[in-house]
Amino acid sequence: MTSWSPSSWRELPAKQQPKYKDEDKLKTCIAKVRDLPPLVAVHEIEALRGALAECVEGKRFLLQGGDCAEQFDDCKAQTIENKIKILLQMSLVLTYGARTPTVRVARLAGQFAKPRSKDTEMVDGVELPSYRGDNVNGFDPKDREPDPERIVQGYFHSAATINYARVVIAEGMADLRLAPAWDMEFVKNAARRDQYQGIATRITDAMNFIETCGVKLDPVLQSVDMFTSHEGLHLEYEEAMTVQAPDGKWYNRSAHFLWIGDRTRQLDHAHIEYFRGIANPIGIKVGPSSKPDELVALIQRLWPNPAAAPGKIALITRFGADNVATMFPPLLKAVQEAGLPVLWTCDPMHGNTTTTTHGQKTRDFDAVLKEVEECIKVHASLKSRLGGVHFELTGDNVTECTGGPENLSETDLKLRYATLCDPRLNYSQSMEMAFRLSDHLIA
Ligand code: PEP
Ligand code: MN
Repeated sequence: MTSWSPSSWRELPAKQQPKYKDEDKLKTCIAKVRDLPPLVAVHEIEALRGALAECVEGKRFLLQGGDCAEQFDDCKAQTIENKIKILLQMSLVLTYGARTPTVRVARLAGQFAKPRSKDTEMVDGVELPSYRGDNVNGFDPKDREPDPERIVQGYFHSAATINYARVVIAEGMADLRLAPAWDMEFVKNAARRDQYQGIATRITDAMNFIETCGVKLDPVLQSVDMFTSHEGLHLEYEEAMTVQAPDGKWYNRSAHFLWIGDRTRQLDHAHIEYFRGIANPIGIKVGPSSKPDELVALIQRLWPNPAAAPGKIALITRFGADNVATMFPPLLKAVQEAGLPVLWTCDPMHGNTTTTTHGQKTRDFDAVLKEVEECIKVHASLKSRLGGVHFELTGDNVTECTGGPENLSETDLKLRYATLCDPRLNYSQSMEMAFRLSDHLIA
């Protein structure tokens, strides 16, 4: 195989890339991003890889989640706090329920580029370029022309977001002793609210008791790690954020974890070429079109020496609840037979999208839960382990997915349908999901 560089992907066909009219402006913007400082530290990236290796062994469990598409307008203190809070609260429920520490990876601070099934779409009778995420073009019909300046804006919004995420954690939002006071206003189900308060109170009582006995608490309990992730889709941006470390390894320093989307995982294409050279832990979406031999070849291309980098590859399965039982076993067996110790995680969102009679994309809470349940069953039947989950969710009280504790109907969706892309679980649906999952994980 030819030698790798951050730009060697340019020799190969690249899917889902924006077509810019002004090449010179693109070059200027990319040069600007290349000169800007990294957003994450190498030791944080390596710490995440180590934590993911523990997820493979069942010592930890990965909770990955956030928006389908972040928006530049989401870069506000309260919005970022809500996104972090929901992940912390879910992880508390999961950790307590499953008696396994959780690793939190947010789809945050860079989830600005979206793959689309069509290059154009009809808006009010006019054919326009599809919205491809805020770092490419605007959702507003008059902003659909891809603008390279948005790549620079994407960097700055990522920087402000990750900085504030660090501030929120430094100021103690993740301090477990504050957990009983975490606001639960959106959890409509009183029994669940009490259950959560019960867990939080039992944890803090235990911590107070230990301190009363004169034992100093591990500072780990006063704070947690929160890692960032996004789909590594926009290769111009990802290349510009790729930096060589003193030991010679190349890291994408825009996020701790990047994943390859279901539409861009062709073995002989540009995304795989780019990803094979970076040292970050990475995810691969595994959907209905995945073939067992191709999947094995893909993992081997991206991870030639598994023993040297445990925790490097997470496979994120997303088949649709009713397809898991038939589609998943051949893939799981092929990876097992090839002896590849990957982390298996489940994205129960992307295979369960439907369109309502009003033309809105939605997902039903029960189908989402069912996909995780089916996935756990397949793992159990093949002596494998589900090591994590991947959700599209928000800490806000939106109405985008049907069902759940408030039993939202299709007509309720128009109340607060805020996503620019795929529908997310809202606050109370996310909390309910954490409770339901923790029951399964303990079993
Ligand atoms: C996503 O995670 O938002 C996404 C587009 O997923 P997939 O590549 O699995 O369709
Ligand atoms: Mn999505």
